[in-house]
Amino acid sequence: MGNLWISAKVLLEGLGLEVVVPPPCTKKTLSLGVLHAPEFICLPLKINLGNYMEAAEKGADTIIIAGGRGPCRFGYYCRLEKEILDDLGYEFRMIVLEPPENNFLEVIQNIRALSKCSMFQMINAVRTAWFKCCAVDEVEKKVQIVRAWESCPGLADKIYREALKNIDKAQTIKEIFFAKLNVLEAFNDVPVEPEREVIRLALVGEIYTILEPFANQNIERHLGKLGAEVKRSIYLSSWVNDHLLGSILPMESTKEACRMSSPYLNYFVGGHGKETVGSAVKFSREGFDGIIQIAPLTCGPEIVAESILSKVSFSEKIPVMTIYMDEQSGEAGLITRLEAFVDMIRRKKLSQKTATRK
Ligand code: SF4
Repeated sequence: MGNLWISAKVLLEGLGLEVVVPPPCTKKTLSLGVLHAPEFICLPLKINLGNYMEAAEKGADTIIIAGGRGPCRFGYYCRLEKEILDDLGYEFRMIVLEPPENNFLEVIQNIRALSKCSMFQMINAVRTAWFKCCAVDEVEKKVQIVRAWESCPGLADKIYREALKNIDKAQTIKEIFFAKLNVLEAFNDVPVEPEREVIRLALVGEIYTILEPFANQNIERHLGKLGAEVKRSIYLSSWVNDHLLGSILPMESTKEACRMSSPYLNYFVGGHGKETVGSAVKFSREGFDGIIQIAPLTCGPEIVAESILSKVSFSEKIPVMTIYMDEQSGEAGLITRLEAFVDMIRRKKLSQKTATRK
């Protein structure tokens, strides 16, 4: 799921476990999943299944997966995936980490159950993973802005890719800090077009589709090329703080977005449906120019959210577009829809400007 592997890898290696990072998601990964998954299951399961098969080729024998509860299929992923893999003859051991409901001690117990490492080793591993997670998020937030302004298209992404490699290689907190600092400086040196008419768009929706560029067909990169700064409703570090650490750290939180979903949606509908509605409200009140909801086709919580977003769009006066992803989605079709959405927002801004001048 996006760059989660960087923090997960350092955490598990710090616990003394050997980690096999599956190859980055490709069409082959998806095809493997699609071939063996139920047709109407959501996209993340299909991609995950392909990831496991590719990891098996590299020697992985154990899968650690998060559990889930509530009205969403995620809680069944582990069972379903295990049965499919067993049927195919893979002999994976599957460890399911159930959601700890903000109980930090339970998080520690779950992590300790994975290996017999010392408490010191575990604290060190958790600290390093956390710092990497925050560094990656900071770099992502920066590239989401720089892409929209750069005058040499592709330069920001080159720096971004290099930064991820350096953060992954960093062994100590000091090295992580300098890797992040270097990249933030490199971004400041990217040549920009200051007179470009940049717009601000927010991405809301299901966590996997938001965070994994293969699942969203590099939507952030396409929007950057079209001159749109992007902000997501979910970043990994804030998710960890909200769901595993009980929001003890003073950082941006999706809890505020959940509160803002009222009166449009007052109930938990599973997945991130409530956050999607609340984030759309929050971003519109922060002055964003448009909202894009992305989700896997057949995702229940996001279908509920979509049905409410038209009301949010009308009441909060903000354009909203919904894009569902599955194995049939094509990148060219996505780009056409993004171009039309961005054009529509630019025209709207222009007509508002002209009306104010009159
Ligand atoms: S949130 Fe949506 S995509 Fe994710 S597991 Fe639940 S139903 Fe599937």
